[in-house]
Amino acid sequence: MKTYKSYLFDLDGTVYHGNEPIVSAIHFINKLANSHIPYGFVTNNSTRSPKQVAKRLNGMGILAEPWQIMTSSVATASYLQANMPHSSLYIIGEEGLFEALAAFAQTEDKPDAVVIGLDRAITHEKLSKAARFVANGADLIATNPDAMITTESGLVVGNGALVAAVAYATKTEPIVIGKPGAAIVEAAIKQLKLDPRHTVFVGDNYDTDLLAGIHAGIDTIHVQTGITTDLSAYKIQPTYSIPSLDDWPI
Ligand SMILES: [Mg+2]
Repeated sequence: MKTYKSYLFDLDGTVYHGNEPIVSAIHFINKLANSHIPYGFVTNNSTRSPKQVAKRLNGMGILAEPWQIMTSSVATASYLQANMPHSSLYIIGEEGLFEALAAFAQTEDKPDAVVIGLDRAITHEKLSKAARFVANGADLIATNPDAMITTESGLVVGNGALVAAVAYATKTEPIVIGKPGAAIVEAAIKQLKLDPRHTVFVGDNYDTDLLAGIHAGIDTIHVQTGITTDLSAYKIQPTYSIPSLDDWPI
C-alpha cells in the first residue's frame, strides 16, 4: 500500500449513508485532520453551497471547512474562470449554483453559455429558453450528469436527465463538469493546492468516483461501503479496493 500525502473523498456511500455517518470514514478523516494531512470532499450535488455541506459534515462529527468542499457548482465556476472568464450565462439550478456563479453576468439576451444544475422547480419554459440559447450557439454546460439521485423519499430524476432534454432538443453534446468527468477532481486539486501524484480519490461508486479519479489521472481507493460491490466487470481497476477505511493505514 502506498502512503499518500493527500486525500479526496466522495460523500454518500463513502463518508455517510444519507444521514448515517460511516464510522470507519469518520475515524479516518479525523485522524487525517489530527495528523495535518490535507483532505477534501468532492460532490456532484450542485444545489448546496460548500458552507452548507461543511455544516452537514460537522453535524456528523467530521472536521470540514467550506474551502475543503468541491461541489459540481464550484467546479463549474472554476472551469468557466479558466476557459471562458468573461462569459455571460443563462443558469438553470438552485441556490448552490447561483451562489457559485455570482461573479458571472446573467442574461437572456444571447448568453455565451447555458449552465444546467439540478433544479427541482424545473419548467418546460426554462428548458425551452435553454434550448433556444444553445441552438443559437451558446455552449451547454452540465454541473453533473447524474441520472437519478437518492433522497429520503426515494429515487428522483437527476440533473443528467434535465441536461439530456436540452442536449436532445438541440443535438448538442454538453460539457460535463461533475464526476465521472475529470474537471471536478482537477478543480479540487487546484483549490486545495495538492500534488496529484501523491493524492488519492476515495469513493464507493466505480462509474462516478473511481472513473473521475481515473480520468483525472490520480490513484483511486474503492471502499466497499456503498454502491459498487463487484469490480470484476471493469477493465480499468481502481488502484486499491478495501472493505472500509479501517483497513487503510495512514
Ligand atoms: Mg458515493
